[in-house]
Order: sequence, then C-alpha cells, then structure tokens
Amino acid sequence: MSKSIPEIYGSLVFNDKVMREKLPKDIYKALRKTIENNTHLELDVANSVAVAMKEWAVEHGATHYTHWFQPMTGFTAEKHDSFISPVGDGQIIMDFSGKELVKGEPDASSFPSGGLRATFEARGYTAWDPTSPAFIKDGTLYIPTAFCSYSGEALDKKTPLLRSMETLNTEAVKILQLLGNKDVTSVSTTIGPEQEYFLVDKALYEQRKDLIFTGRTLFGAMSPKGQEMEDHYFGALKPRVSAYMHDLDEELWKLGIPAKTKHNEVAPAQHELAPIFDTANVAVDHNQLTMEVMKKVADKHGLVCLLHEKPFDGINGSGKHNNWSMITNTGVNLLEPGRTPAENAQFLIFLMAVIKAVDDYADLLRISVASAGNDHRLGANEAPPAIISIFLGDELTAVLDSIENDTFFGKHPLVQMDTGATVLPHFFKDNTDRNRTSPFAFTGNKFEFRSLGSSSSVAGPNIILNTAVAEALRQFYGELKAFPEDQMDEAVRALVKRAILKHKKVIFNGNGYSDEWVQEAEKRGLYNLKSTPDALPYFIHEKNIDLFTSHHIFSKEEIFSRYEILLETYSKTIHIEAKTMEDMVRRDFLPALMTYTDEVAASISAKKAVLATLPCTAQEKLLTTLSGYYEAIYTAEEKLEADLATAEGMTDQPALSLFYHETILPDMDAVRSTVDAAETYIPDSILPYPNYEKLLFSV
Ligand code: ADP
Ligand code: MG
Repeated sequence: MSKSIPEIYGSLVFNDKVMREKLPKDIYKALRKTIENNTHLELDVANSVAVAMKEWAVEHGATHYTHWFQPMTGFTAEKHDSFISPVGDGQIIMDFSGKELVKGEPDASSFPSGGLRATFEARGYTAWDPTSPAFIKDGTLYIPTAFCSYSGEALDKKTPLLRSMETLNTEAVKILQLLGNKDVTSVSTTIGPEQEYFLVDKALYEQRKDLIFTGRTLFGAMSPKGQEMEDHYFGALKPRVSAYMHDLDEELWKLGIPAKTKHNEVAPAQHELAPIFDTANVAVDHNQLTMEVMKKVADKHGLVCLLHEKPFDGINGSGKHNNWSMITNTGVNLLEPGRTPAENAQFLIFLMAVIKAVDDYADLLRISVASAGNDHRLGANEAPPAIISIFLGDELTAVLDSIENDTFFGKHPLVQMDTGATVLPHFFKDNTDRNRTSPFAFTGNKFEFRSLGSSSSVAGPNIILNTAVAEALRQFYGELKAFPEDQMDEAVRALVKRAILKHKKVIFNGNGYSDEWVQEAEKRGLYNLKSTPDALPYFIHEKNIDLFTSHHIFSKEEIFSRYEILLETYSKTIHIEAKTMEDMVRRDFLPALMTYTDEVAASISAKKAVLATLPCTAQEKLLTTLSGYYEAIYTAEEKLEADLATAEGMTDQPALSLFYHETILPDMDAVRSTVDAAETYIPDSILPYPNYEKLLFSV
C-alpha cells in the first residue's frame, strides 16, 4: 500500500519531530535554545545530536554525510564523506562526531572569492546552520552550512542572509518594545518564492548546444504559434507535464518542502510552482533544493527543466516572485493591517519602514536581481521594469494620503482610523488590485518583489530587503525613542507623515510597462539602472558600503569581493554565450545553409541540363536569398569574432562588463537576426538543431 501524503511529508528531514523523538530531553532543549536564540552550541550537545542524526540517517539508508553550502556561484556545493570509521581487524563502524557535524574544512580555493583568496588563506570552513533542518538525498545526509574563509570572511550566500535576519530581528524587536509590545522577543522574515520554469523534451534539448552550454536558445525563429492566444495560462495540464508535477511534488514533500500550487504559465511549455512560505533561511535553502529537484525529476521523465530567465526569444521568460513579510515569535504578521488603532500604528510603522527601505536602497534591490539572464526580462514588456517602485493599491494609498494631508478628524488620526470606519469604509479589507507591472507590490499582508530571475538564489534580494528595512527601523527608533508613552501615538503619526513626504516618490500604482512611467520616474529622481553593468557599480557606493558595514552584513573587503564576482560572472556568462554562438554558426548553421544552397543550385543545373528553357526564376531567387544570408551571417560572425578578441585582451572588469553589454550583445543580436531569418528557408531535415516549434510544443 502506498503511503499517505502526511506520512511522506518530511520523511527525509531531521525535523523537530524526529529530534524530539531521538534526542535526550536536555539535549533537545539545549538545541532548541540554540535554534531559537541563536546561542552557542556546546560540544557535548553537538556530539549527542550527531549520534542521533547519524542513527536516523543510517536507518533511512544513508551511507554518507555532506556539509551543504551556497558559494557565490549561485549553486549549492557538497562534498560527501562516508560514515565509515575503521576499528581494527578490517572492521568498520558507522561514526559521526559533533565536530564533524558542526564544522567542515573544504578547500575553498576553487570557489569564487573575488580577491579575498589572495589576501586570506585558501582554506575555508563550513559551519552548521541548525536553524535549517538536515535532510537525506540520494543516500547522503545533507547538513545545511554557512561557508567562510579561514579568517571569517563570508564566501557564500547564507552567512550574510543570516546576518541580515539578525539585524532585522534586533531593530524590529527594539521598535516593538518601544511601542509597548513587550511580549515580542524575536522577529523573523518569511519568504514564499514562486518559481517559474520551462519543460522541454530531453532528446530535443540534447541537439541544442546553446541550451546545453548557456541554458537559453541563441538562435531560433519564432514558431507560427507563440503565446498570443494566451491559451496556456492556467490551461489543463498535459499528461506528461502532470505526471512530472506529481512526482516533483512528492519528492519535494519528502524533503519537507511545502509545495502548494502548480499551474501552466503564459508561454507555451512554461509552468510555475509555489510553496507555502517559511522562515527566510529555510525558504532560501528550500528554493535551492527545489530548483535542483525540478531538474532531477525532469530527467526521469525524459524532460529537461530550463530555469534560465529567457530560454526563448519572443515569448515570456521566467522569473521568481519573492513574497516577503516579518513575523513575531508571538505569531503576528507585522504587515497584516491591524484591527485596533495600536495595531494599526504598528502596521504603519513597518509599512513605512519597507517603503523607506525600498526608496533609499532601490539601487541595491536592483543589483540584487541583476544578471546577464535577467537583463533580457527587466524592462521588456513581460516583467517588471528596471525602475524599482512600489505598488500599494488604492486603499492604502488613500490612507497614506490622509495622514500626509491631515484629513482625518481630530488630533490623533491614527486613533481615529479604527473608529472612523465611515471615513474609510472597508479599510484594509481589500486585498489590493493585482498590478502585475509593478516590481514591488503590497499584496494584502506581504510585499511581493517580482523582479527576481528564475535561476538565481533568492538569498541576495532578501539580504538587501532585510538589511534596508532594519536600517529604516533603526532610524525610526531613533526618532521615537525620546517620546513618553502618552505621546507615542502622536509621535508615530508625525513620523509616518514625515516618512510619507520623503518617500512617496517611490510609490507608483500605474502601469509600470508604459513609456510615460519611464519619464515620470526620471522626473521623480528614481533610479533606472537598465542593465547589469549599469547597476553593479552602485554596489560600492558610499551609502551602500555604510549600510552593509554598519549592520555587519559585509565588511568592506566582502563588498568589493562580491562586486568583483558579480562583474566577472556577468562577463563570463556572455563570453560563453558568444563562444557557443560562434561554434554553432561556423560548424553547424553555415554548413547546413551551404548544403541547402548547394541542393538548390544543383537542382537548377539539373533542370537546365535537361531542358534549358525550364523556368527557374523562383529557385534562382531562392538561391540569391540563401547566398545573401550566407554572406551576411559570415560578415556578422566575423565582427563578433573580432570584438571577442578585443574583449579577451581587456582586464579592467567594469569596462569589460560594459564592453560585453554595449558591443558583444549587439554583435550577437546581429548574428542571430540573420541566422533566424535564414532558418525560415531551411527544411527541418537540413537544419542542424530542432526549431522553436518543436521545442515549445513537444511536451
Ligand atoms: P499569488 O501571488 O499567486 O496570488 P498567494 O498570494 O497565495 O499567490 O501567495 C503567493 C506566495 O506568497 C505563496 O508562496 C505564499 O506562501 C506566500 N505568502 C503568503 N503569506 C506570506 C507571508 N506572510 N510571508 C511570506 N510569504 C507569504
Ligand atoms: Mg504572486
């Protein structure tokens, strides 16, 4: 008999339930304390946990363990060690110590360090993150860890995320206590990332070097049908897709990942999966795992899961919606509009903190979603624009307007909000419009940051969000702390009013895809950082260095190292794409074009040899067209080749990234457009790779 879902769910996770069962009571308590209060873990506790973990893992078929970490590549990394330990006589036991659980020492020298490696030792270490549960995958016990250089510099995405959660926790608790909310002792951030992806047939995928090497198609004329009928969105799932999704859910559930929603997306072959939200670091780990499991399960079904932001030209790309909020240890969502005036004061403070954070650090938020892949989406008419603004919806905007203009009755507008229901009917009840064109939207009781690319880790955007909101709260606390309790309501009102006046420029409820908005945003002085190379230099601006260092998210060295890694990754990505393009043009496409040209030429000669007066005008026209394309493609390819040689000789990273953006990408566009135009003349039997029609409608 097959197991029920509740039995399957979390069956491969060393979760709280397992810990309670397997650990001695005092050890369990000590571990919970560490998890909840972020306190130091004693070695005897670690030893005890390690033994229980190993026993549980071995019972579930594990033979190995690995520290699992998230280096700056954006992927996860692992190095497996078996539990075996010799005891003499050629015998072994399965062994795992607290020391092995808590700390690992992988060679860090081949992970990107952005120069940190030159200054510090090549050794790195991984440190157990007990706040994210260990799990079993493919016979190995996975232990989520942070990854640092030997001298403590973060070399990963988890360390700064944990630091950002900590600073937000500190600042949020401080302000809640000030507002009289004495029960709250901790605040954590919650994230629910909605993940988009494409599925293509594996046999077809394997015939496309571009998909294999770059994750996206570098060529391909649009198929006769695309997404114009919008018949795929929420459409009935095809059997093969449905079987895939079913398996995927089950694999994710086993890992304790609460996969909840699945549906077809707008573009053909595009789909989405959304989990139920979780604490930020767990949600980040889960999203990394989700992407991995998506690929693995696809393989079993003869499919390939594409997570690239823009696998196909001419139809939508894939993104990730980062739903974000803050929750107290008492279970209160701080972005849930309250039912009492006091709760509303609290809500307004946290709402304003987010608005201020987004306004003050829009450049960093933009950087946090910047990548070569995502550049194809942001600003195109399918994804939020590169301009970061906030959608609040009419109701909430009206509330802020009334505070700004003192249009509430009486002296204490905040107090009046609840009793004054007649002033604002259905206050906060409405879950807001769905304005899909906004990069950052309030959706009832959370914010949804929609600019993320589908393939990147969600750690980055949340590091920025947490830190920027913590900074806003820190400043608010400074402005409020001198007021006695009986003046607090008025002080809060005044603060909210000041904040609205200062930051309302970032609020925009209109159509983010329109040209008018671009002009309007410029008038308002908002950033419009169109591409990754445009955005990245803001990472090292004074105000941003101040933010990161004052909240102990990154040291100055860590900031510069990350800046360098981001620049390099951008340039390398496009370099690989350009090289793949060259290869496909020279070795696949041009020869195919020549084959077809020869066939046409041969046919003309053959006809003329039989009867000189046979009409050949159309074929001669075709021959001229094909020959013309050959010349044009060859010329465009030569230019790309020459410019790539220039790029290869450049060493200044910021200049190089701009060169890739401003010169190489347009070169690639020129090659692509001629190749795609020529493709429409070439029969499938000669075309060296499966076309869009096949790729998009094969599953
Ligand atoms: P949609 O945006 O498609 O309408 P929902 O609004 O139901 O879908 O939720 C989208 C995502 O937001 C889900 O992953 C959900 O778990 C998550 N979410 C809901 N509440 C919160 C919250 N308080 N904090 C973070 N994420 C949340
Ligand atoms: Mg959504």
